[in-house]
Amino acid sequence: MTKSISFLIFSVLLFGCEIEKPKLSLNVDKKENKAKNIIIMIADGCGYNHIDAANYYSNGKLKSQIYESFPVHFPVCTSPAMSGKFKTELGLSWQNGYNSGLTYSDSVWRNLAPTGSGAAATAIASGRKTYNASIGMDIYFNPLKSIAEKAKELGKSAGLVTSVPFSHATPASFASHNVHRNNYEEIAREMIKSNMDIIFGCGHPDYNDDGKREESPDYKYVGGEKFWNDFISGNNYGRKLITKQSEFEKLLLNPSEDRLLGLPRIHSTLQAARGGDVNADPNQVPFIKDIPTLKLMSSTALSTLSQNPKGFFLMIEGGAVDWASHSNQNGRMIEELKSFNETVESVVKWIELNSSWEETLLIITADHETGYLTGINGYNSNIQSNGKGSLPSMTWNSMHHTNVLIPLYAKGVGSNLFDDYADEIDSLRGYFIQNSEIGQVMFRTIVR
Ligand SMILES: [Zn+2]
Repeated sequence: MTKSISFLIFSVLLFGCEIEKPKLSLNVDKKENKAKNIIIMIADGCGYNHIDAANYYSNGKLKSQIYESFPVHFPVCTSPAMSGKFKTELGLSWQNGYNSGLTYSDSVWRNLAPTGSGAAATAIASGRKTYNASIGMDIYFNPLKSIAEKAKELGKSAGLVTSVPFSHATPASFASHNVHRNNYEEIAREMIKSNMDIIFGCGHPDYNDDGKREESPDYKYVGGEKFWNDFISGNNYGRKLITKQSEFEKLLLNPSEDRLLGLPRIHSTLQAARGGDVNADPNQVPFIKDIPTLKLMSSTALSTLSQNPKGFFLMIEGGAVDWASHSNQNGRMIEELKSFNETVESVVKWIELNSSWEETLLIITADHETGYLTGINGYNSNIQSNGKGSLPSMTWNSMHHTNVLIPLYAKGVGSNLFDDYADEIDSLRGYFIQNSEIGQVMFRTIVR
């Protein structure tokens, strides 16, 4: 079948679809849109198909995640302001749009110059699109204020939690400003010195990816050897270090008033980079013991941050969904997304028990799709279930990021504001928003 015929058939199929229409709210100044607390959860590298795969494996059916029934859902365009490799290519290219036609008809376009986590997280954190590899900087290399920094300005608390190194692109974009995401040492130093109340993530220099003592420590993720040695010998910028699972558990019950660095005794990821057969089905390779889960780290962050009567901002990243997707590892991707999904459930419970949807905004989203995950019958095919507990039928078509739209789900105060931004239309998924507009909604919502 030629490309034009298949596109024609595809067009006929989609004109039969019911497209979700936004309801314009445009009620900017109403008090009910102001949030005491904002929690954004980012599954790095997670597209719609990743969610379907985890749903089939965990529950045997689609739409079985709590967030998939949230009242607000929009697809998100992830394209950066400028793409390419910073300073290593003949200039960055202005690949700054989304093409609803090509995304379903041209598999090459889907892979062309996609965003990176730095540009995507900066857009989410600041409300401005930027160049690939940026950490909290605009295309002219001026620092952009993040929503976490804004929360601190307003007297709120702020925290960042991730399952990959805390100085990695996504958390870094909320609490540091650097021309390039690979400047880990500078980024880590800026974050540790920052006024963020909570920084929980990986990168411990003294342990390897299996949680064993490391013979030759790698200090890259924690600011370099000298900075780290100074930090642990007391020059800690008022930030207390915790590393043991039991310390996270203790703080969950007895929250601290200190600024914290939570650095589990593991190097680059909580569990995704552990040894054993990386292509095994989910949960077949034993998990490393005594390493806190993303759920525990997030719960500890919530109990600490919520002590502030003015409220808080919290970003939680399931960072290794992306890492497993880059490596096309079915089992590990599902493990990581499952851990993220369990964390979402516990956050929802926390809101309902300790706060309310009238004072808290919860956003669940991704930064881009990774691995071009599809069903096995072509680029536009759906993943198919093989029953609960079995890997679904799916295939990876790339080891990199792609341009496909990714999902956003929201619930709570201010979540209706996303309607105002959903002015662009995708031929299949309907009205969509830009990733920078996630930041714009958070800035509108958090200012009281
Ligand atoms: Zn990635």
